[in-house]
Amino acid sequence: MKYCDAHCHLGSGQFDNDRSEVIDRMLASGVRDAIIICCSEHDLIKGAMLRQEHPGFRLALSIHPQDLEDSREERLAELQRCIETYHPDMIGETGLDYYSHPHTKEAQKHFFISQLELARQYHLPVNIHIRKASADALEILKAHPCRGIIHSYSGSVEMAELYMKAGYDISFGASILFPNARRPREVIAKIPLERLFIETDAPYQSPIRNHRHEPADILRIYEETARIRGISIEQLSEAVYKNFQRIFN
Ligand SMILES: [Zn+2]
Repeated sequence: MKYCDAHCHLGSGQFDNDRSEVIDRMLASGVRDAIIICCSEHDLIKGAMLRQEHPGFRLALSIHPQDLEDSREERLAELQRCIETYHPDMIGETGLDYYSHPHTKEAQKHFFISQLELARQYHLPVNIHIRKASADALEILKAHPCRGIIHSYSGSVEMAELYMKAGYDISFGASILFPNARRPREVIAKIPLERLFIETDAPYQSPIRNHRHEPADILRIYEETARIRGISIEQLSEAVYKNFQRIFN
């Protein structure tokens, strides 16, 4: 079976001590394709090395919306230099996070728009982080048309439809495993299979308290998604694999 992790931070310092074991477990579980999100120099250097070693790994690069306390304009120039140097496969994660960083709203909007414009300039898809900011995010996505993936989706069916109309596919993470995850389950049941992605956000968003999430854990999310859709895990993995290939072509 081939599984794809549409959003993980394999370059994270949290994997520095045992990254190769984490990747061995991942490959042994059938997770051969992954989007490695890099939002720091440390993560980018690791991520770029991993992409060289693993043909199924894609590199995504951005300034994260939770990282704008120091929102100097030069950071965008630096990002552009990294794009020219590393040739990422995607921009991300970028977006708006009004939940954890309500005090940097204006900077977030500016950096989000600027990164969408970079994605357009380099013809790259975008991996989008939106938290408690869906109205502003949708307005920006419509005004700066790109394509890509909405990461870790937990909103309504209606909102998912608007994002899809704006050119974005919808990705689900481990939050669907929680008993109170009524809304994302509804969305999984309703959206077209051709618009669906699955992700871990490893090392973050573990469904188990005090456990570092890793890409091999994605199987549980696939199982739950297949159960909700009423299809086999083979059908689901085949569909997600196709989606994964399509987004990079
Ligand atoms: Zn993430």
